Amino acid sequence: MRYLKPSSVEEAADLLESSQGMILAGGTDLCVYMAEGVVDPEALIDIGDLDAMRGIQAAKSDHGDVIRIGACTTIAEIATSEALPTCLRQGAQAVGSPQIRNLGTIGGNVCNASPCGDTLAPLLTLDARFVLRSSGGTRTVESGDFFTGPKQTVLGPGEILEFIEIPAASCARASAFRMIGNRKGQAISQVNAAVSLTIADGRMSDIRVAVGSVAPIPLRLTKLEGVLDGQPIDDVSLAAIREPVLEGIRPIDDVRSTATYRQEVTVSLVFDAWAECVGRASGEGECR
Ligand SMILES: Cc1cc2nc3c(=O)[nH]c(=O)nc-3n(C[C@H](O)[C@H](O)[C@H](O)COP(=O)(O)OP(=O)(O)OC[C@H]3O[C@@H](n4cnc5c(N)ncnc54)[C@H](O)[C@@H]3O)c2cc1C
Repeated sequence: MRYLKPSSVEEAADLLESSQGMILAGGTDLCVYMAEGVVDPEALIDIGDLDAMRGIQAAKSDHGDVIRIGACTTIAEIATSEALPTCLRQGAQAVGSPQIRNLGTIGGNVCNASPCGDTLAPLLTLDARFVLRSSGGTRTVESGDFFTGPKQTVLGPGEILEFIEIPAASCARASAFRMIGNRKGQAISQVNAAVSLTIADGRMSDIRVAVGSVAPIPLRLTKLEGVLDGQPIDDVSLAAIREPVLEGIRPIDDVRSTATYRQEVTVSLVFDAWAECVGRASGEGECR
C-alpha cells in the first residue's frame, strides 16, 4: 500500500483521481475498516495535515455570509468553538472519547455517513452545505441531498469534501442536540436528535428537526416541522409531537437497540432538544 501526503487539496484530488486510493483524515473510521478487512485501498492519501482544510472562519460564499469549516477540522475543535451553533458543538462533544475527538475530523464524520454520526443531524438542522473538490473544480451539495444510504453519499470517486458551510442565518437560530447511548464514554448513539428554531412573540418559526440512527440516513422530520411552524410554544407537548415524529422515522432492530425502543426515545429526545432550544431562544449572542 502506498502512503501519499499531498501538499494541497488540489494535489490530493489529482492523486485520488489517478489512483485506486482512499482519503485518510483522522483515520478513526478508516483504520478500523482496514484492520477488519472491509477495505484494502491501493493507496492512502493523507489530508489530515493540510492547514488549508482546517479551521473555522466567517466567510462570504455564493449563497451569502457563512461560517466555513475546513473538512479536516477535528471534532475536538468543533466541540469547543464558540463560533459554532450549540447543536453542532453538542453533537461533537458526544463523539467517542477525547482521543477520538482529537484525531477524528468533521469531514470524516460526514463522509463516513453512518446513520448515527453525531454531527450529521446538527448539520441538517443548520442547512449546512458541503463543498466538494475534484480535479475538475468544486461543486456544492446541500446536506439534505448528500446522504443516500448507510455509509453512502453522493461523493463521486474522485471527490473530496473540502469545506462545510453554515449560513449565518442558521447561526442566529437557537439550537440543541440530544443523544442516547448504552452508557457514557464511547457509546455510539442509539438515537440522536437536533432542533433549531427562532421564537418571536411566543411563536416558533424557521424550525428544523433532524434525527439520526432511526432510518438508513440521518433525516429531517419535515412533517413535524410543518406542524410546529407558527405555533405558540405553549401548545407543544410530548403528546402533540408524537405522531409526526413517528411518521417520519423508520428505525430497525440492531445490536444497539430495538426499533420499538428507538421510536419511544426519539419522541422524548426531540422534545428535550426542543425544550432546550426554547430556553436558549431568549438568550443573547450571535451563535446560540
Ligand atoms: C472507539 C470509537 C468511538 C467512536 N465514537 C463515535 C461517536 O460517538 N460518534 C460518532 O459520530 N462517531 C464515532 N466514531 C467514528 C469516528 O471517530 C468519526 O466518524 C470521525 O469523525 C471520523 O473522522 P476521521 O477523520 O477519523 O475519518 P477517517 O477515518 O479518516 O475517514 C472516514 C471515511 O471518510 C473518508 N473521508 C475522510 N475525510 C474525507 C474528506 N475530507 N473527503 C472525502 N472523504 C473523506 C475516508 O476515505 C473514509 O472512508 C468512533 C470511532 C471509534 C474508533
